[in-house]
Amino acid sequence: MGKYERPRALGDALQVLASAECQVLAGGTDIFPARAHAAAWGAPREAHLLDITAIEMLRGISREGGAWRIGAATSWATLRDADLPPGFDALREAARQVGGRQVQARGTLGGNLCNASPAADGVPPLLVLEAEVELASLRGSRRLQLTEFILGNRRTARAQDELLVAIHVPDAMARSPSVFLKLGSRAHLVISIAMVAANAAGRVAVGSCSEVARLLDERGLAPIDDVRATADYRRIAAAELVARARERLAA
Ligand SMILES: Cc1cc2nc3c(=O)[nH]c(=O)nc-3n(C[C@H](O)[C@H](O)[C@H](O)COP(=O)(O)OP(=O)(O)OC[C@H]3O[C@@H](n4cnc5c(N)ncnc54)[C@H](O)[C@@H]3O)c2cc1C
Repeated sequence: MGKYERPRALGDALQVLASAECQVLAGGTDIFPARAHAAAWGAPREAHLLDITAIEMLRGISREGGAWRIGAATSWATLRDADLPPGFDALREAARQVGGRQVQARGTLGGNLCNASPAADGVPPLLVLEAEVELASLRGSRRLQLTEFILGNRRTARAQDELLVAIHVPDAMARSPSVFLKLGSRAHLVISIAMVAANAAGRVAVGSCSEVARLLDERGLAPIDDVRATADYRRIAAAELVARARERLAA
């Protein structure tokens, strides 16, 4: 067994991160399946785990100085059930569609971003919200646009000694009605083949169709081929989802 620590204070967690090579553990809904998979192929399971779920300030949703703050360890269930302005409708719809109720109860928004899967349902809704992420370490804290944070498939700009502390959303975007549409191989408990978030401010983001979900105004889509769908299928599906999202917003 590797070492396991569960500090209550952020400072203690940052101390652990600075002094040891360890893996941050939030809900564990990405980590544990990945570890079980690796173990099945004979990989050692010795990672030192830093459990952040006892750190109060990493959980919950609040308003601070003209912006919204979502603690990185806020669960999907909390987001799903929260009373939030219409800009968050897309994120709340994503929360309702992530896994089943058990995964929603354990899985966190921060874990979804740090895991950086191309199919992470939290990313498109946050892209249309112009979200920023806040990272902290003993060296200090910094904020990055979400577009600067997720760099590729399972790659982020987070340094080994940094913890994702919160996600910040500007008030103006939080007021702009938004929608989220997801296509999978069935209706529930499914990883996305394509998903779209859009808001009334004209921002549209597409996920699961490239290494990193992206805003449509940047470049055209260059969808990927994988076990879930071909690039051609994704191109057609994404275009249809974008059209439906726009129709819903217009209605
Ligand atoms: C059955 C099942 C269904 C699922 N369905 C979906 C789905 O429909 N859509 C979807 O997007 N995902 C889905 N997932 C994946 C997963 O539930 C989500 O990505 C979830 O949000 C991960 O959060 P977590 O807290 O469990 O992350 P963890 O597993 O605890 O961590 C994930 C990664 O992020 C890192 N990390 C976590 N928090 C922090 C932090 N604050 N700072 C720095 N690093 C951090 C960890 O070290 C790890 O690398 C599913 C998983 C399962 C098991």
